[in-house]
Amino acid sequence: MPETISRRSFLGRMAVACAAGPGLYANSRAATETAAFDFPLADLHVHLDNSTLDKVVALSKQLGIKFGIVEHAGTKENKYPVVLSNDEELTQYLDRLEGQPVYKGVQAEWVDWMSCFSKGVLARLEYVLTDAMTIRNASGQRVKMWESGFEIGEKQKFMDRYVDWHVEIMATEPLDVFANLTWLPATLMPEYDTLWTTQRMEKIIRAALQYGVALEISSSFKAPRLEFLKTAKAAGAKFSLGSNGRYPNMGKLDYSLSMARSLGLQRQDMFVPPADGQKAVQRRKF
Ligand SMILES: [Zn+2]
Repeated sequence: MPETISRRSFLGRMAVACAAGPGLYANSRAATETAAFDFPLADLHVHLDNSTLDKVVALSKQLGIKFGIVEHAGTKENKYPVVLSNDEELTQYLDRLEGQPVYKGVQAEWVDWMSCFSKGVLARLEYVLTDAMTIRNASGQRVKMWESGFEIGEKQKFMDRYVDWHVEIMATEPLDVFANLTWLPATLMPEYDTLWTTQRMEKIIRAALQYGVALEISSSFKAPRLEFLKTAKAAGAKFSLGSNGRYPNMGKLDYSLSMARSLGLQRQDMFVPPADGQKAVQRRKF
């Protein structure tokens, strides 16, 4: 997930939180939100990075929103503040979260993250989340699409390649949640509604259903938009809510909750981390 974008939204959100008064803002919001839904609120896209777990857990209690922690996981070729890259690092991380009132997840990076870990250690995770924002360039190398210098090329061809990339990721990696869905490079955002054709949306939704992957409603990127989500709900997809937040921005789910309200999401529509034996790393071959 992009650090640069999150830093920018961090500043914006701080301004809002400060204007409202941090304590009041959090408490009144959580009370209203909880009353509106028949399922417990969870933000399944929370990065610890360099913040302390104590602070994050205290914030979760204050908001009345359970957090799912997803540090990045994959080879060290993936550049993030924290990248768990082997059994030892993943075990230390899991031990740190054990017994805390949070879900234990990772945000998987690139296509080879599974090879860093043994299946037994992966099975201690409660879920695996990823996104499609790092893609292959023409030479097959990984590129972060949100960084400057990324070349889109012809936009219709890019969109088809991007959609196929989503499908390839879901077909080949044991994933529980797909995050940051329908995000587009900034230059394409003005054309979001026309570039995300019904056909493209349906291709991704079909793959999610085929492989049992839940779809994140991202407050970080205000995506996917309502039409995608309506199509996904009608098809029977499961949803998760995500802030992609670093401290103190985890749990800020305004967009996700507004979409959940518009869609009339109920308990049966929501992804919850699966029982032992049902996790993607246990039921998928890889
Ligand atoms: Zn992320």
